[in-house]
Amino acid sequence: MTNRDSKTQAMRRPPGGWQRVGWLGPGFLWMVSAAGSGELLFTPRIGAQYGYALVWALLVAVALKWVVNREVGRYTVVTGEAFLQGAHRLAGPRGWAVWMLALPQVVVAVATIAGLAGAAGTALVLALPGDIRVWTIGDVAYRFSRFLSIESCGQCPPCKLGSSAITENLERIETGVGDAGDLDVITGWLGHVTDGNRCYLAVEEQTMVTSIMRAFAEEFAEHLELGRCPRPRRLPIPKLIDLADGRAVYDDSFWRKQPDWTYAADDQDAPAHRQ
Ligand code: SF4
Repeated sequence: MTNRDSKTQAMRRPPGGWQRVGWLGPGFLWMVSAAGSGELLFTPRIGAQYGYALVWALLVAVALKWVVNREVGRYTVVTGEAFLQGAHRLAGPRGWAVWMLALPQVVVAVATIAGLAGAAGTALVLALPGDIRVWTIGDVAYRFSRFLSIESCGQCPPCKLGSSAITENLERIETGVGDAGDLDVITGWLGHVTDGNRCYLAVEEQTMVTSIMRAFAEEFAEHLELGRCPRPRRLPIPKLIDLADGRAVYDDSFWRKQPDWTYAADDQDAPAHRQ
């Protein structure tokens, strides 16, 4: 009798019929322990990003996974040794198959650790009260838009009028008195703020506000729904007036600067600025 035969005889027969039910618990535990970053992170993300476009890849992967997992398991059961031990003995350069398996894992591990950290962070956000976002992107849009509308020199009327109107309506939304009509005004001006522009400022206004409104539509909806800023916080965007010897000098009075480039008193400052 060979060594292989003796191992085969020593194995217990697989459970059959109702006896299989007794293995469900260990089976579930094994299944959960085998779920990795692919199942938790990559597959849901790819599904969310590409919809059904890559479902063929999923089917191929599932078919391959079934074969590979089954054969790896069978190899271990039949020989009594780990699959990597067998791969290490394959003909060719020493250990090439093990390296072929290990190297991609090292690369994937980097993304996996980052992904798991993200998943853990998301779980903490869901489990703990409060909100980790310290200010709203709507506030960012308002303050950048205000900066650009004030700095607009006014040579091109659509730039000055449009950026001012956009700022005014963003401010209404930010301070809780805005409604859907303000969004319409903003959207309307975004289509014309660059008309006849002589420099890039108007394009900056258009690109910045458009991209923020597209990417963070729920933020604006939240403002309108609550009738206030959900996370009010002063977010100064000071004007840089000098940069010398590694030191930046800001214009502290910028928040009092008006669209006509005069300076208001503190108590006449923009409402959204007063926190
Ligand atoms: S586009 Fe440029 S030049 Fe024209 S008003 Fe705006 S800042 Fe001035």
